[in-house]
Amino acid sequence: MKIILLGAPGSGKGTLAKQISKDFSIPQISTGDLFRKFAKEDSQLGRSLNEYMSSGKLVPDSLTCQILKTRIEGKDCRNGFILDGFPRTIAQAQALEKITNIDTIILVDLDFKIIIDRLSKRRTCPECGEIYNISSYSNKSCAKCGAELIQRDDDKPETIKNRLEVYEEKTSPLINFYSDRLFKVSSAGSPEETYRPVKTFLEAMEIVNE
Ligand code: ADP
Ligand code: ZN
Repeated sequence: MKIILLGAPGSGKGTLAKQISKDFSIPQISTGDLFRKFAKEDSQLGRSLNEYMSSGKLVPDSLTCQILKTRIEGKDCRNGFILDGFPRTIAQAQALEKITNIDTIILVDLDFKIIIDRLSKRRTCPECGEIYNISSYSNKSCAKCGAELIQRDDDKPETIKNRLEVYEEKTSPLINFYSDRLFKVSSAGSPEETYRPVKTFLEAMEIVNE
């Protein structure tokens, strides 16, 4: 199963992707996580990725598509994958069509007001990538690996605004691009409530495709 998760930053794509990945045994591919890994390196690539991300800008399409292509050629992607954060522009969607066929696109829908609130309360584990919200988790270290949690530079208020503007302008046109095969889910409720209809939908799809 090859799945795209579409939705604004902070809409809960990552959380949903992790649940799908676990239940359907396919890897979650987050271009944001890939970029953050490269950005830690002391290289020209690392420095320029850092600049794009900390200001909330998109990484250029050519670089993004190249990194994505290499990743989905990996052995673990043979039975499918979930793309979390890719494509983010029409050009990326067109490039993806040349690389592989996607089975389904899930749109994670959430009001911008709630997004801003959730992102500003989000803390991230710099070691394992686990995500927490300070309203439900007051501990300062990661429950999984013990590392000290951080607030991502791009989760600071100025950058959140930029990222949502970039989403409106560059990514939201994809909703139209994929309108004929979109499964829409609201993430206003809990992670479990968000996942439930998605799970039912994906299980039905598996049966149909058998
Ligand atoms: P979020 O979805 O919460 O914004 P991500 O971890 O998906 O966070 O992305 C973080 C940053 O990585 C983005 O703001 C952008 O700079 C870069 N990025 C991630 N995916 C893409 C992509 N497909 N195209 C261009 N830039 C990307
Ligand atoms: Zn951790």
